[in-house]
Amino acid sequence: MKNSGFNNEVSVGVIGLGIMGSSFAFNLLSRGYNVHVYNRTEEKAKPLLKKGAIFYSTPRELALVADIIMTSLTDQNAIDTVAFGEDGFLNGANKGCLWIDLSTIDPLASIKHSEVAKQVGLERLDTPVVGSKDLALKGDLIVLVGGSREVFQKYEKFLNDVGKTVIYLGADGNGHKMKLAINLYLGLFAESFSEALAFSQKLGFDVKTFVETVNKTPHRNYISESKGPKIVEGNFEPAFSLNNLFKDLELINEQITKTEAILPMTKVAIKEYSEAVQNSEGEKDFSVITLEIQHKNGLA
Ligand code: NAP
Repeated sequence: MKNSGFNNEVSVGVIGLGIMGSSFAFNLLSRGYNVHVYNRTEEKAKPLLKKGAIFYSTPRELALVADIIMTSLTDQNAIDTVAFGEDGFLNGANKGCLWIDLSTIDPLASIKHSEVAKQVGLERLDTPVVGSKDLALKGDLIVLVGGSREVFQKYEKFLNDVGKTVIYLGADGNGHKMKLAINLYLGLFAESFSEALAFSQKLGFDVKTFVETVNKTPHRNYISESKGPKIVEGNFEPAFSLNNLFKDLELINEQITKTEAILPMTKVAIKEYSEAVQNSEGEKDFSVITLEIQHKNGLA
């Protein structure tokens, strides 16, 4: 795969090799970048090492050789763990190195991370992504960017190798703020799809008939087209885990309180997702919310 023209002699360090981090690393390797990786669980690096990535046993050691450090981890706590302390990457990173955070975290934490990074001479952008594993592997994600416009322009071509749609949204933390708004939308339309599906079952239709019918209407969307056929098969293998979406819904809830937003459907949806997590569905794909609604209706 060709890269965008950004100098791929640069060394990119990817910290966090979960569903997304591994996919970012595979994509960058296929574009000819030098890829260095760290993950708490070393085992997950094995498929990448076969493709030429180099593993480091601490984030600090990885940072010593990286021009760009990418973090893709669960939450703020995980980022703090790999960033700070003696073995943290901030302790090894070279001055002028860029840190981009592709995780979905609290915007306030993102702003704090940016301040700390700048204090130790790093450049930093928040770059959470929209899209899942399939798009990440191809470099076709949507990247939401917050931070200095100058730094953004300097690295725009590199960001285009991560995602073909890169949207600059202004100040530090704005990428993470917009990501929460987008994931609220995602959570709500998965919930509404699930309720319409359960309703169609109550009216006597089977799941396949509902999914095929809705996908022939103008109301089809990402959930009905991408998740619908998997829901028909009962396949909830995670591309984006319910635990991670629920983590985002909790961040959204904090912002609702802070901003005094009045969002009636959101309150109901958060309760439904919370119950699905309590029912031990968290490791599955978030589309398992359909199963939760079906269970409530005695349909599954
Ligand atoms: P994931 O598969 O659950 O991977 C989570 C990663 O975080 C793993 O590398 C895990 O390490 C690491 N981690 C968690 N807690 C840690 C800690 N305390 N210390 C060190 N490392 C820790 O998640 P993912 O789907 O790749 O998502 C990563 C981030 O991107 C999340 O913020 C998610 O919300 C966001 N996101 C995901 C998607 C998606 O479709 N999956 C799309 C957009 C954004 P171990 O391997 O050792 O557990």
